[in-house]
Amino acid sequence: MSSRYLSDKVQEIQPSGIRKFFDLASKMENVISLGVGEPDFVTPWNVIEASYHSLEQGYTAYTANAGLLELRQEISLYLNQYFSVEYNPENQLIVTVGASQAFDIALRAVVNPGEEVIIVEPCFVAYESTVRLAGGIPVTVSASSENGFKVTKEQLEKAITDKTKAIIICSPNNPTGTVLTKSELEAIAKVVTKHDLLVISDEIYAELSYDEKAVSMAAIEGLYDRTILISGFSKSFAMTGWRLGYAAGPVDIIQAMTKIHQYTIMCAPTMAQHGALEALRNGRDSVEEMTTSYRHRRNFVVKALNEMGLECHLPGGAFYVFPSIKKTGMTSEEFAERLLEEEQVAVVPGHVFGESGEGYIRCSYATSIKQLDQAMKRMGKFVQKYI
Ligand code: PMP
Repeated sequence: MSSRYLSDKVQEIQPSGIRKFFDLASKMENVISLGVGEPDFVTPWNVIEASYHSLEQGYTAYTANAGLLELRQEISLYLNQYFSVEYNPENQLIVTVGASQAFDIALRAVVNPGEEVIIVEPCFVAYESTVRLAGGIPVTVSASSENGFKVTKEQLEKAITDKTKAIIICSPNNPTGTVLTKSELEAIAKVVTKHDLLVISDEIYAELSYDEKAVSMAAIEGLYDRTILISGFSKSFAMTGWRLGYAAGPVDIIQAMTKIHQYTIMCAPTMAQHGALEALRNGRDSVEEMTTSYRHRRNFVVKALNEMGLECHLPGGAFYVFPSIKKTGMTSEEFAERLLEEEQVAVVPGHVFGESGEGYIRCSYATSIKQLDQAMKRMGKFVQKYI
């Protein structure tokens, strides 16, 4: 009855397809979940302590809307040191409530009603809905498995119209783990500059890059002035629950985003900002330890999947593998449902990440090797029945 009060926009968007599997799995016993997109590590202790300490010292008030200046200065140093991009902490950086909020305000700051935003699928489930909520029209381009889930220049050219405003790129990618090389980013940059587009670059997994260092979109020639770089602390510092991210970009865009943030959020949580400050100052060893562990788990899972007959490429980053389940003859939804029912392993069906994800499943390897070993044994038993 009360649905008559709902806006058209909110009725246009669907609940996330990932949730359904979490809900099912949480009602069952003995389930191994490879479904969640978050680190299994607890936040490094020095970060927790710094946050406690900030409370003890009485830092319990709001910070500046854009976040603690000290933190913006650290983020600026970090981006410069690791990704060779320069941002003025005074006016080119904003601290947000996770990368999620950075997306929301970035899109609301730049999209006019009816403008198109290109999204490369398979991709993180929030992009499409966030574009819609900002009044934009998501235009999806399917990166094919034959091309390692990398979008081509030709595909982008085809999707561009006179209404295209921006393109969202995510490397390392969720759900495929694909990392775009510098020359691949340069090829995208050529199309972007030719058509005078904006890039919204999701670099939240940039540190979790196992074979080569990830390159920032903003560091590609011609893109600095037309890129909103979005990142955060959730993945590389194991801080999902702290809800802390940031955006860096051209002054006018970051200022416009800060204006929205000022009225809707005020500022990111103060104690989390103090934790993040410590993470950037003294968190390097922890990031390296976690990255080494993820690399080891990635190699283990990819080998196990290929051995059981599920074709799986070696993804360069993030903490997901995206094996093909086509040989089983099942849809990805059927595969995930039956695997959960018969062997109590939770994975995410590929179609929830976009059409080109059909025929694949996403498995997160952000869980212990012991659990992964068990999960691979159960999956092997399951797959044997169907191929
Ligand atoms: N981008 C991608 C690609 C993600 O996978 C996620 C989290 N799953 C986010 C953004 C959001 O991260 P945060 O916790 O910083 O909001």
